Amino acid sequence: MKDHVDTIAAVATPPGKGGVGIVRVSGPRVPDIAKTLCDDVPEPRRATLCVFQDTHRKTIDQGLALYFPQPYSFTGEHILELHGHGGPVVMDLLLARVLELGARLARPGEFSERAFLNDKLDLLQAEAVADLIEATTSQAAQAAVRSLQGEFSRRVRHLLDALVQLRMYVEAALDFPEEEIDFLSDARVEKGLRDIDQEFCDLLQAARQGCLLRDGMTVVISGRPNAGKSSLLNALAGRDRAIVTAVPGTTRDVLREYIGIDGMPMHVIDTAGLQPSENVVEREGIRRAWAAIESADRVLVVVDDQLGLQEQDKNIFCDLPENVPYTVIYNKIDLTDRQAGLVADDPPSIAISALTGAGLDALRAHLAQAMGYQEGVAGEFSARRRHIDALHRAHDQVNSGRNQLEHNGAGELLAEELRQAQLAINEITGEFTNDDLLGEIFAGFCIGK
Ligand code: GDP
Repeated sequence: MKDHVDTIAAVATPPGKGGVGIVRVSGPRVPDIAKTLCDDVPEPRRATLCVFQDTHRKTIDQGLALYFPQPYSFTGEHILELHGHGGPVVMDLLLARVLELGARLARPGEFSERAFLNDKLDLLQAEAVADLIEATTSQAAQAAVRSLQGEFSRRVRHLLDALVQLRMYVEAALDFPEEEIDFLSDARVEKGLRDIDQEFCDLLQAARQGCLLRDGMTVVISGRPNAGKSSLLNALAGRDRAIVTAVPGTTRDVLREYIGIDGMPMHVIDTAGLQPSENVVEREGIRRAWAAIESADRVLVVVDDQLGLQEQDKNIFCDLPENVPYTVIYNKIDLTDRQAGLVADDPPSIAISALTGAGLDALRAHLAQAMGYQEGVAGEFSARRRHIDALHRAHDQVNSGRNQLEHNGAGELLAEELRQAQLAINEITGEFTNDDLLGEIFAGFCIGK
């Protein structure tokens, strides 16, 4: 616990009007601030009715004060929570008074950052706090709670322990060559490596699912005008989001919609019809459509099944960026009598009717499967891209160490790779993470958290 830190404050409830609004204060000056603002320091952890006063002892508001003395608080520092009436003016006045008494405005995520720095949470748990707040589906929220309760951290630590044990064994053997431990035939090393490999695979799979629950996928609906793109967006969203008309070129801007597929958030973007145009507004719409396509996880190219696949549709496939996969959607099958569902695998093609809803379940299942999302499997915990990257790096290092041992009998190289893998895994929980990365992570949080 550091005593030289300053005291921070922020409104912890969302902006706007509500029954209750909370100003949160953390740091060494909390007892002094409480004494002046509430006339006395409230009894620890007991909701105390107080009158909050300004410099001239005029009442700003009347509400509850909660005091959590260090180290038994979220941040590990003294915390004061002032529960007032949830109006923006009241909250501003209350916050201004706290700042006047010596606190400074907290940066985004600074309360969680202090909790991390004071060992109240590891980095995975701190990130889970933000993920829980940002969750867009109930499954994502549950996964974030499990991470917050330490489920992901426990699994990462278990893997780390296995790595450390193996490394110690290998290093001990290297230090005492007279014992002539033959690594190549040492079943313990081989079994250790096999178990660790399995643990990496299981953890990576769960982390990928956790990452999908958090970030979801971005799907862009594209195709020629009138193919039924807006109708497909509305059918997936289950409501009329986009204007549907028989007039080509109705959608001129990019429309976005969040939809959940069995708990995985899907960000669907409907774009202007991709066709050469002289119209300035339509041309801008088409430019934005291409920009959306560049960053998509998948593009759905909608084709009017009455017209069949035409040269212009094939041109769209050719123009798509190479790294963005696409699925062909044959729409309007209610008019063509084609069977709904998967039509072909390469490229994946699905027949639907945006009008009747036929084939939409097959499309949803295809999208989830294309992302590697396991439908019906509860997310074990929430995870982020950076966790997966670190796990991959560590896994590659262990694999390369194993190769060194198997092909070159190089036990010392195995030990070194195990050490590097250990460092990569420590980055996940924040044991060895540079300040820039920490700054980046906490800057993504909201103010007051
Ligand atoms: P967009 O220009 O590609 O966005 O196409 P829209 O969604 O605006 O649809 C163009 C026209 O096709 C509208 O008149 C829709 O009602 C019609 N349409 C769209 N999907 C279907 C479908 O599955 N079946 C039938 N029969 N008509 C459809």
